[in-house]
Amino acid sequence: MTNTTFDVQAIRKDFPILNREVNGRPLVYFDNAATSQTPKQVIDVIVDYYSRYNANIHRGVHTLSQEATDAYEKARETLRAHLNAKEASEIIFTSGTTHSINLVANGFQALLGPGDELLVSEMEHHSNIVPWQMLCEKTGSTLQVVPMNERGELNMEAFDKLLNPQTKLVFCNHVSNALGSINPIEEIINKAHAVGAAVLIDGAQAAPHFKADVQQLDVDFYTISAHKVCGPTGVGLLYGKRDWLEKLPPYQGGGEMIAEVSFEKTTYAGLPHKFEAGTPNIAGGIAFGAAIDYMNAIGFEQIAAYEHELLVYATEQLKQIEGLRIIGEAENKASVISFNVGSIHPYDIGAILDKLGVAVRTGHHCAQPVMHHFQVPGTVRASFAFYNTKEEIDSLVEAVKKAVGMLQ
Ligand SMILES: *Cc1c(COP(=O)(O)O)cnc(C)c1O
Repeated sequence: MTNTTFDVQAIRKDFPILNREVNGRPLVYFDNAATSQTPKQVIDVIVDYYSRYNANIHRGVHTLSQEATDAYEKARETLRAHLNAKEASEIIFTSGTTHSINLVANGFQALLGPGDELLVSEMEHHSNIVPWQMLCEKTGSTLQVVPMNERGELNMEAFDKLLNPQTKLVFCNHVSNALGSINPIEEIINKAHAVGAAVLIDGAQAAPHFKADVQQLDVDFYTISAHKVCGPTGVGLLYGKRDWLEKLPPYQGGGEMIAEVSFEKTTYAGLPHKFEAGTPNIAGGIAFGAAIDYMNAIGFEQIAAYEHELLVYATEQLKQIEGLRIIGEAENKASVISFNVGSIHPYDIGAILDKLGVAVRTGHHCAQPVMHHFQVPGTVRASFAFYNTKEEIDSLVEAVKKAVGMLQ
């Protein structure tokens, strides 16, 4: 590697799964945009929790409960620091980005009505489309769509035209999971705020590649899924500005989210507990914090620089394959490459790649409007993480060539 400070071989030793074989070949894992792999430092944290201090949190007087509570709240503080949120109580633990967005969409039901407009980008994941459609159905508000160009970049002139004083909410991903495009969220946030609209940024696909500073961005809501940043599945976060989180009603009712309950009247707990009904994924939350610590120890600048090398190299190599079309060639891109070869169905390529030990995703990537835009049934998507190598990219390219040879 040209990047001498980045020791990828040492990093790979942290990931036990990278040693396994698939169909008799060394695993080449390029499905990182769907879920990342887990280093032993994070696996150990989960094992340690269940081996030593598994207990329910917050209400316990006994030692185990206090240890679990301390570890869980320490993880919240780690996540606060990571995003540079003002207060730890602005970090709500959720089950992931989908849950986070539904929580906000549900809350806005009380604040919107007919005539209000919501602005969404054309390149969203279904989880940043469907909850808002459900919200529009309930409130009579309307959903407007910001189109993208042929390179997979948002059309900001159209954005300017669509944005108006009726716009109450704008939501957009920071990085597109289907195309890799990095969106100009600072501009989106500033312009939305100028008309008084709130902004939710879906950071699920950005978080594996770079840090967001929520205060500097001045974003109202930001979401992350732990399983895309080397953490476990079933846990994530919603960052919300205190003012907004206080304005929104609770999402679910139950234990933990109350101050006082009687059959006459129940009062809600303060932040963040108001949005955390029931027993959470305690081990998952603690491991989420450990995963962010792990990535910060490597350094997000290092990670982004190294992944960019992988992206450039893979793009060059893949483009040499005859008939290969890359879908999504934004100027600013994270390490995600969606492609098709001729008229071969992406699934057929993916199935042969798997036989050769190469894991990619095929299909619509939960972004059917993106597929409609490019008039394809789906794509093959190879997405790279900081533990991948150029040698693995060579294996991918060889495997694609082989698949194309067999299928054409
Ligand atoms: C993965 C992803 C989601 C959904 O995350 P879940 O963890 O499945 O809730 C939403 N948006 C983007 C951009 C994603 O990449």
